[in-house]
Amino acid sequence: MLKDKVVLITGASGGIGKAIAKKFAEAQAKVALNDIAPTEEALKSFSQEIGGKYFLADVSKFEEVEKMVENIQKEFGRLDVLVNNAGITQDRTLAKMTKEEWQKVIDIDLTGVFNCTKVALPLIIANQGKIISISSLVGQRGNFGQTNYAAAKAGIIGFTKALSKEVGRFGVTVNAIAPGFIETRLTENLPPELKETIKKFTPLGRFGKPEEVASLIFFLASEEASFITGAVINIDGGLPL
Ligand code: NAP
Repeated sequence: MLKDKVVLITGASGGIGKAIAKKFAEAQAKVALNDIAPTEEALKSFSQEIGGKYFLADVSKFEEVEKMVENIQKEFGRLDVLVNNAGITQDRTLAKMTKEEWQKVIDIDLTGVFNCTKVALPLIIANQGKIISISSLVGQRGNFGQTNYAAAKAGIIGFTKALSKEVGRFGVTVNAIAPGFIETRLTENLPPELKETIKKFTPLGRFGKPEEVASLIFFLASEEASFITGAVINIDGGLPL
């Protein structure tokens, strides 16, 4: 169903981003992969592997995002789906957090979503397309040492709900997903005892896999999800809020 649709995935050399890109490539969508310049070599070989094209840009920099979307339009002539996946953490309790650590997470995780969505919106509207952003369970319930990340991820939820009300009349859907703990670089360095505690409180008894997140994104990007908008869908193995 997504054959030949053009899909932009930000942060596409990370764990979840790669799984999303693979899923769309398998469905013969045209995949535009974004990440930052230092990842170029990895991104290049991954995009060759799955038959996509890559576009370097720091999502927190509006001008770079403008250039990226311009290049995507030149390459493919359209854009149907935007997946706002790029994100970082810089964890520290608020008492110790620097202004820079606060700002960097807000700039990439929240302003990055604004930048990409704002610039891509006219193209998405032209195709009655879909916008999907990756929030987090942490944006709904908070987490020790993550005031910056929790604020950014909660911001994505408000952004998604507000934008869905603005663009529904154009046939565009805007949704967010809220993953719990997924096996990627972002979670691999958690202390082993914390990992065990999380698993204990997760009804499914394990962390999620990037491929499971990709399946949900794929569904939301498909016509199967045509009447879903302004939603935040949890994918967390049942970990309570
Ligand atoms: P990841 O492996 O660290 O992937 C994130 C990707 O974003 C990396 O490739 C990273 O590049 C890229 N990135 C960082 N800053 C960027 C920027 N300014 N512009 C463009 N790309 C940038 O993490 P992940 O676990 O796959 O996370 C993907 C998304 O899921 C994030 O938004 C994250 O917050 C969210 N999430 C993850 C979990 C989880 O348990 N893993 C749970 C809830 C939500 P570098 O490699 O250079 O840093």
